[in-house]
Amino acid sequence: MNLGQMLGAAVRESIPARASAISRFGQIAGEQTREVLEALVPIRYEMWQTAEDERTCPICGQLSGEIWPEGEGFTPPVHDHCRCRRVYRHTEFRRR
Ligand SMILES: [Zn+2]
Repeated sequence: MNLGQMLGAAVRESIPARASAISRFGQIAGEQTREVLEALVPIRYEMWQTAEDERTCPICGQLSGEIWPEGEGFTPPVHDHCRCRRVYRHTEFRRR
């Protein structure tokens, strides 16, 4: 076997070894990604939204734009004829 043949053989042997290393790495990365994703809980956040006109009361004006996690904070109506609502704002992920 000459040098060229030796190099050729080395390259042929290393290609499957590298492919398997890359595939194993991908598998590990996939497992870690899945573990991380499984440890995360989505939390929905909502924002207080007033009717935004001249009849918006001072109470609701104060709350306008406030953001809470779903199920926390104030919930409309906060007074008679309150026209406010809470609208979905964004989702954050927390670790369990
Ligand atoms: Zn209101």
